[in-house]
Amino acid sequence: MRKNIVAGNWKMNKNLQEGLAFTDALQLALSNHDKINCEVIIGAPFIHLAHISGKINDKKLHVAAQNCADKASGAYTGEVSAEMVASTGAKYVILGHSERRSYYGETDAILKEKVLLALANGLKPIFCIGEVLEEREAGKQEEVVRTQIENALFDLSAEDFGKIILAYEPVWAIGTGKTATPQQAQEMHAFIRKTIAGKYGETVADDTSILYGGSANASNAKELFSNPDVDGGLIGGASLEVEKFMPIIQAF
Ligand code: PEP
Repeated sequence: MRKNIVAGNWKMNKNLQEGLAFTDALQLALSNHDKINCEVIIGAPFIHLAHISGKINDKKLHVAAQNCADKASGAYTGEVSAEMVASTGAKYVILGHSERRSYYGETDAILKEKVLLALANGLKPIFCIGEVLEEREAGKQEEVVRTQIENALFDLSAEDFGKIILAYEPVWAIGTGKTATPQQAQEMHAFIRKTIAGKYGETVADDTSILYGGSANASNAKELFSNPDVDGGLIGGASLEVEKFMPIIQAF
């Protein structure tokens, strides 16, 4: 059975003290609610990971890095390897976020290497896919998303693919306040699941968690998550404050 997941992506926000204070406050809020029906992930900056991991005592709460290197180790100044991420206690790594694709030139080929290294080091990738506005306006969103998945993920074994979480993030909805409609989200998530089934079979497809990302918040999360193929959210802006993040978690 696939998991429901609400993952926050802090991006380049919060210093270490702010990150730790958030973690304490989130754990307190989680412990005050007996019915938390999803796994919760905090996507934090690299330098916070070990500190946050050390604080976590709630079984439903995990930490994710927001990136890792496409090389295993060596002379790559400033890079952080998947092995280093795993050594902090982080269990997940967000890969292929549209900001990394567009600002840092991350191609499908680079992302494929990152996915392999993440898996080799026991990390579960939260792999982001999604079309830009012009592609949606041209009706090419399915083709774009299918190609991103095929290029970066479809050489994996079924066992390794089973460790991937997908996050459909239409780029035009990220940080814009313009959310995909529940119908648009459901249509794309169903298409993604069908694409996975075509390659790995129905069981693997049914077991894959597919998250929605793009201006999700306390007001729209319930409706988005009520779609049969939407298994949670990757949340940017609304994950920065516990008061905004908690109602999204409680939407399940
Ligand atoms: C994101 O960056 O992954 C994201 C979904 O951001 P926001 O929720 O702010 O649109």
